[in-house]
Amino acid sequence: MFFFRNKEDEKHLLDFKSKYAIKKVMFGAVYEKVYDKFKDGKKVCRFCGKNSDEVTFKQKTHIIPQLINRSLPVSNFECDECNPKFSKYENDFSSYYLLHRAIFGHKRKKPGLVKLKTKVGVEIQGVDKTKENLKELNISDSEIDEILNSNRSIVKLLADPTDEGVKIEDDGEKLTLTTERQKYKPINVHRTLLKIALSLIPQDEYGNYKSMLNILNKDFDGLEKDLFSITERSLPKYNSYFKIPTVIHFDRINPEDNHPQKLFVLYMDNKIIQIPVFTDNDFDRIHKDKENYRIWVVPPHINPITLVNEKPDFAFHMDMVRLPFKQIDLSSIELVKGEKDSITITRNKSPELEEKDLRILKGEIIDEPKDSQYWGFGLHPEYFDNHVDIKIIFDFLAPVSKTEHTYLIAGCYYRINNLTKEEFEKNISGIEDLILMSMTHAFKMYRQKFPQFEHVELKPFSKKFFQAEIIRQMDELEKNKDGSI
Ligand SMILES: [Zn+2]
Repeated sequence: MFFFRNKEDEKHLLDFKSKYAIKKVMFGAVYEKVYDKFKDGKKVCRFCGKNSDEVTFKQKTHIIPQLINRSLPVSNFECDECNPKFSKYENDFSSYYLLHRAIFGHKRKKPGLVKLKTKVGVEIQGVDKTKENLKELNISDSEIDEILNSNRSIVKLLADPTDEGVKIEDDGEKLTLTTERQKYKPINVHRTLLKIALSLIPQDEYGNYKSMLNILNKDFDGLEKDLFSITERSLPKYNSYFKIPTVIHFDRINPEDNHPQKLFVLYMDNKIIQIPVFTDNDFDRIHKDKENYRIWVVPPHINPITLVNEKPDFAFHMDMVRLPFKQIDLSSIELVKGEKDSITITRNKSPELEEKDLRILKGEIIDEPKDSQYWGFGLHPEYFDNHVDIKIIFDFLAPVSKTEHTYLIAGCYYRINNLTKEEFEKNISGIEDLILMSMTHAFKMYRQKFPQFEHVELKPFSKKFFQAEIIRQMDELEKNKDGSI
């Protein structure tokens, strides 16, 4: 169940689904082997093409770098010459995302959590939540117990506020922490993601990606920015929605379409990071035939949580649809020094749906035949400073015999916290989903009220039928409030 901010988001999702299909989902916390098949038992490295006569394959090679919260999946097609080379790329990735990884308390390859340490002595590190560790932080025993029983994360920041190495801005609403990023080579950040992508491409398709493989192995000046940019969304919250790093491989459905064959997305804590991956044929179309290309941004509604969890989660979806994205150009092969990196955490809370009351207002059997089922609804929102109360009155009529029909009126009362009137009114699809929920509840209440009519099939309505009615009722409410006709 999705809650859309607006019609454009919904259209984006539908359009995207017509262009791309999910080919593979890899969870960093699940041990998985991605193995190539080899002829004559002779291994071949996917990345340099050398075989086991020329190179060894002794090391354990990880698909998602271990530095991303100590991910587990491994492969059998990375040789012992390539592995240390990719570790160097990963150092740049590590530097680029160090503040993030320290704040979100990533595990390191070695035991312990990631620590950011600057020359001037600033230290940021997540705290493993044990009683002993928390005691060191000078907090009371009751607070320690509270932290241990909550899903709150703790991060330790050591800095002199007059230090130039760190800047903390806190306006009560949001907190921004800025430090200097360690030096890094942009293309290597990209390559770290590209290597994950190339590892996830099925063996029988792999031969179509020689150009991408070249970029992985050799430095090229003046790479096209658009093609080597990543798209990143960050939820401005200290909330690790994607605690388990996850990679999703999206595959273009129609090979004729003018967008890259593959999109790979890494979901990491509060971040969604996407790279495009082009086939050699895609490259020819762009460079030789000068075709215009469009890189689709994967809608945030498609993510590991919605894939595994069917339950509606109003707050999560509202957060997802609010996410802006930015393009980050990682095409440069020049070392970047002294760049600022910052992280913003907002205090404002997500919308939260509370079910206040569900009740049958009327339920009776009427001696009168009816041809078909009928249902209707009435919306009664009430707005407050920081929440919206909404009553949905749902009435339902169903024929049960040649001479009788049943009639039910059900009231569903919800409160949505942390939502303004404006946000509520804009989110027509959210209202549609509330009505869907009410309908489900009303059907349950019908079964309770009329257990003897178990055989009556209750027909749910598709939400596309009531969109116009929602808009009509919302307009009506607005007019009545203004006192105009
Ligand atoms: Zn190799």
